Amino acid sequence: MYKAYRFRMYPNDDQKILIEKHIGSCRFVWNHFLDLRNKRYTEKGEAITRSEMSSLLPVLKKENKWLNEINSQSVQQVVMHLDSAFHGFFRKITRYPRFRKKRNGGSFSVPQHFSIDGNHLTLPKFKAPLRMIMHRDIEGEPTSLTISKTDSGKYYVSILAETPNEIPESREIKPSTSVSMDVGITEFITLSDGIQISNPRNLKKSEKKLAKRQRQLAKKQKGSKNQDKARIKVATLQEHIANQRMDFRNKVSDILIRQYDTIITEGLNVSGMMKNHNLARSIADAGWSSFFTMLKTKALSRGKNIIEIGRFDPSSKMCSHCGYIYDLKLSERTWTCPRCNTTHDREWNAAINIKRFGLIKTGIPTDSGELTPVDTVTSTISLLEKEGIKQVKWLKQEAHVI
Ligand SMILES: [Zn+2]
Repeated sequence: MYKAYRFRMYPNDDQKILIEKHIGSCRFVWNHFLDLRNKRYTEKGEAITRSEMSSLLPVLKKENKWLNEINSQSVQQVVMHLDSAFHGFFRKITRYPRFRKKRNGGSFSVPQHFSIDGNHLTLPKFKAPLRMIMHRDIEGEPTSLTISKTDSGKYYVSILAETPNEIPESREIKPSTSVSMDVGITEFITLSDGIQISNPRNLKKSEKKLAKRQRQLAKKQKGSKNQDKARIKVATLQEHIANQRMDFRNKVSDILIRQYDTIITEGLNVSGMMKNHNLARSIADAGWSSFFTMLKTKALSRGKNIIEIGRFDPSSKMCSHCGYIYDLKLSERTWTCPRCNTTHDREWNAAINIKRFGLIKTGIPTDSGELTPVDTVTSTISLLEKEGIKQVKWLKQEAHVI
């Protein structure tokens, strides 16, 4: 967790001059790259990446020797900020970055190599420590700071400190607040309460497009300009797909952790993954692995439980109603139990069994007949829809939901 602190500073005259130089240089670098980016975009329709801006910095410093008088990391930080400003703009969070006008006030960042000793702050390039009034103690480890001058001529330092997260106590494991999930190839996950979340359609579309672009790339002549262009197109799309996937998994894991106290899953069968020659399956497993890591991290910080059961429990073959073991074929999406005549959705039935196994493993009796409240199901579905996750189904049947 981060906490921010702001203290008043009283620099001497020499320090004021150097602060002024930092502010002026950072403004110059910001405006320089913003201008370059605008021009590049109008001329070629391309953006300038963060790494390209960074690689242009030494050139800029050679042409403008005075830039060497200030902390190079403060300049580097401007590049980062400009890049984030564009990301914010493209994600419709902030407005388009604007040129910085020369005015009295301003600021610059110091990402590292500073030290705080009582009311004294030591910064790179500043010979003597700067005086500040630390009116309260800093909790945790200071990670970065920003020096600012107001338009009225007052000086401040804002310090960002990181404190270790306190791990909340774990929630009680109860059948009614537990959910389990089955991971599929066509469906992303199926929950024991009958909610089925499929991979987003826009992701499937992008994947198709990627396959097409990769075929186009393969046809290009080696070392040609066209091959280069095609390679960039493939890389851009790959990044886009990775972002889409990350976004989808982040949203789904957030909602699950918010809605349920305990999440039961099958463990990841790594050795099985290695042996598996089915491409679709291994891609699904790889996606699952990163989703699982997200769930675990989020569960830990919110006191929620993750229970893992082995992969070898006969989760899909067993009738969740009567316990009959059915000879289930890979192609069967639904099946009817010959003993109790219950019709099962393959994934949902597996998820219900996983929940039961998980609860038994932790010593919770599962025959109490406690159901997942319908309210939880409907609110989970509406939260998913609110987050723009549209491929959600509720497999409401006459089956048993534990
Ligand atoms: Zn049965």
